[in-house]
Amino acid sequence: MNKNIFPQNADRIVMVDVDVQNDFCPDGALGVTEGDRVIAPINALNEYTRANDGVVIVTGDQHPPTTPHFDAWGVHCVAGTNGAAFHKDLALSSTDVIIEKGTGQTDGFSGFEGVARNGITIEQLVQPRSPRERVAVILGGLATDYCVKATALDAKKQADRVHAARQGVIDVYVVEDAIRAVNLQPEDGANAIAEMKAAGIIITTSTDIINGTVGIEV
Ligand SMILES: [Zn+2]
Repeated sequence: MNKNIFPQNADRIVMVDVDVQNDFCPDGALGVTEGDRVIAPINALNEYTRANDGVVIVTGDQHPPTTPHFDAWGVHCVAGTNGAAFHKDLALSSTDVIIEKGTGQTDGFSGFEGVARNGITIEQLVQPRSPRERVAVILGGLATDYCVKATALDAKKQADRVHAARQGVIDVYVVEDAIRAVNLQPEDGANAIAEMKAAGIIITTSTDIINGTVGIEV
């Protein structure tokens, strides 16, 4: 049984809010059922992260007016529109890092394909600063079966590279109460969680993160 694997032995926390944008919330162009339910746990995790001197990364689709991506998905999150804006209840801080993705002609499902306006990437923010550093990367947002999964799997790939090169440790957590799935097929969300788990991503809850009880069986 693992004991207190977080936050006690993490040196640094990176929280990633994936695509909590109006168009992915229930009234949006590509509304995810209960999509707005992710906001309360994400706000709590963001606050927790900032209080522990971590960084909050906020990703968003910022698509051009036309892109082949819309052939499959319909028009959504066009840069500069209300649909692309973050949900009003998502509590952001000036210290958070906004990552724009899908700005060209690609899908941009993973936040790792995006970049901040100042040129910084998630990969740079997540990379351990020394071989002794242990970084906790925590993900929540929309949607489980697309952008959350793609971003989490890319984080785990970086974690595996870092581990192989002995550059430090990255633990990747996905917060089950802070994500919702599109579920084009009813099992898509559950399958995405199973795939992330199989890759070595830790599936947990916001309560367990905040209470430091991830991995403790009660
Ligand atoms: Zn998109």
